[in-house]
Amino acid sequence: MTINVTRSSMPGFEEYCEEIKELWESRWLTNSGAKHQKFQAELEKMLGVPHVVLFTNGHLALENIIAAFEFPKGAEVITTPFTFASTTHAIVRNGLTPVFCDVNPENYTMDASKIEALITEKTVAIVPVHVYGNMCDVEKIADIAKKHNLKVIYDAAHAFAVKYKGVSSACFGDASMFSFHATKVFNTIEGGAVCFSDDSLVDKLNSMKNFGITSPESVGFVGGNAKMSEFQAAMGICNLRHLEGEIAKRKAVVERYFRHLDGVKGIKLCKPDKNVTPNYAYFPVVFDGFTASRDEIFTKLAENGIIARKYFYPLTNTFDCYKNLPGSGAEKTPVAAYFADRVLTLPLYADLALEDVDRICGIILERR
Ligand SMILES: *Cc1c(COP(=O)(O)O)cnc(C)c1O
Repeated sequence: MTINVTRSSMPGFEEYCEEIKELWESRWLTNSGAKHQKFQAELEKMLGVPHVVLFTNGHLALENIIAAFEFPKGAEVITTPFTFASTTHAIVRNGLTPVFCDVNPENYTMDASKIEALITEKTVAIVPVHVYGNMCDVEKIADIAKKHNLKVIYDAAHAFAVKYKGVSSACFGDASMFSFHATKVFNTIEGGAVCFSDDSLVDKLNSMKNFGITSPESVGFVGGNAKMSEFQAAMGICNLRHLEGEIAKRKAVVERYFRHLDGVKGIKLCKPDKNVTPNYAYFPVVFDGFTASRDEIFTKLAENGIIARKYFYPLTNTFDCYKNLPGSGAEKTPVAAYFADRVLTLPLYADLALEDVDRICGIILERR
């Protein structure tokens, strides 16, 4: 049987049916219905953040929060190429120019010591990514942003339920975006959210995701449609009940991987950070000086029905659509390029059997 890199967490069938039953009575399927409101309130409480605005997916959440700041067209946004396509697209689709900052070799998030050199008079914001659920250097980034009067919008798609020094990842920067896509630690099938504390953004984002409608008979601006439906919210309410258990199961899987792979020559793992409460979202392994290359391991696993992912390869600054931007190209971000060529994320999900982890590691270590 094929083992995929991920497998969606789902509540019991009966539990979900129970949750959506009322919708057959209310016939209110979207547009901020009862499930949407309940789910939003539960998230605000759980994350300890003043405002959560729900979206139909994480990408549109990010695109809309960037748009909400109304940066001038052509302004520059410092970001990372070591991420999913979405982060860079969200910047560019807003008419802004991404400026790629390299990552650090410890946890692959933006190297905060390299940000200031990239700031010009056109810079308006920093969009860092908590890659794999590893927290960025939120303190240093906050200092730089304050000093240069920049907004900070975190792509926290990987970092749901992660805490830094006991504070939720939702609480850093001017805003943070979560993805609740089926493949993430916590899902609403498709879904996403923006978290922030500025009261003035609430009505704005709610209008933006609903065609710019500002009251029953007025449309204040050119909005789109990015609303979360009641069925998605109901999935969120159910999955939230099981989140702790799912993360505990992921932890056991990660510990099993560590038992086999930690300390093996040529294999580098992301070490837990004492300030971070992790969510065990991904299990990246860097093959650097191992007897086999990342690509060889990838192929070997695939031959055995095990689907790992070269996550993140290629870098977004080498995409066909971005490689000709000034400042693009992998050579401008050598650390990111180095790891993009060597990293593999291994299968990780709550229900992954520990015997399967043993088998996966056995296949890798055969090559020692
Ligand atoms: C998943 C993901 C997104 C996009 O979220 P969707 O909910 O799939 O739209 C954005 N950024 C990163 C880093 C992601 O992994």
